[in-house]
Amino acid sequence: MDFLPLEISTYSENHTSAESDLLSQISRDTHAKVMMPRMLSGHLQGRALSMISHMIKPQRILEIGTYTGYSAICLAEGLQKNGKLITIDINEELENRVLAYIEKAGFKNTIELRIGNALDLIPKLEDEFDLVFIDADKENYLKYYFKVFDKVKKNGYIIADNVLWSGKVVNPKPDKDTRAILEFNSFVHNDRRVENLLMPIRDGLMILRKLV
Ligand code: SAH
Ligand code: CA
Repeated sequence: MDFLPLEISTYSENHTSAESDLLSQISRDTHAKVMMPRMLSGHLQGRALSMISHMIKPQRILEIGTYTGYSAICLAEGLQKNGKLITIDINEELENRVLAYIEKAGFKNTIELRIGNALDLIPKLEDEFDLVFIDADKENYLKYYFKVFDKVKKNGYIIADNVLWSGKVVNPKPDKDTRAILEFNSFVHNDRRVENLLMPIRDGLMILRKLV
């Protein structure tokens, strides 16, 4: 679902810096060869993530839900020199493709892909993060939030994607995934440990700043 009239979203894209040739190739390949290409962030959201990352200038980023690596590469663009991004995905079939893209992007020593269930892998992480991007299965959003919270630095950020869930968050009869998103949005909105901003970009980005 598009929240904005088509002319307005087209105009916005036309006045947003272009994605790199590699990102455009990742997008094309994903649409041609990978299941559920709609999950890829794409041009406008990718540039938004890159811009936000440049504003934060993180040293360490964690991404939950790599898919084909589009958003990981966008987020890594804003890392400090010698910064690192760890990205987790449960789908081992994507591994070789993502590693090839990471190498082409010149991020071989910057982006580390870990294959496995994020619920198991997050507790094993020893780093502290300046930015966490939650974008895996919607059902577990609150669990991811609880599991990463103590690993985020004070004044660090957590960004969760798809928090408008194609507009279903205002549907009077929410399905299971929608209920999980509603619970997540409501919990973080009432959590005094964070400041929150729901930015209605694409499918909705919840941006949280950790105050404690
Ligand atoms: N961030 C990507 C899109 C991610 S799509 C982009 O913006 O381009 C969601 C991904 O979450 C899928 O690749 C799926 O395999 C992964 N995923 C789902 N459940 C998971 C889990 N429990 N642990 C880790 N990854 C999971
Ligand atoms: Ca997403």
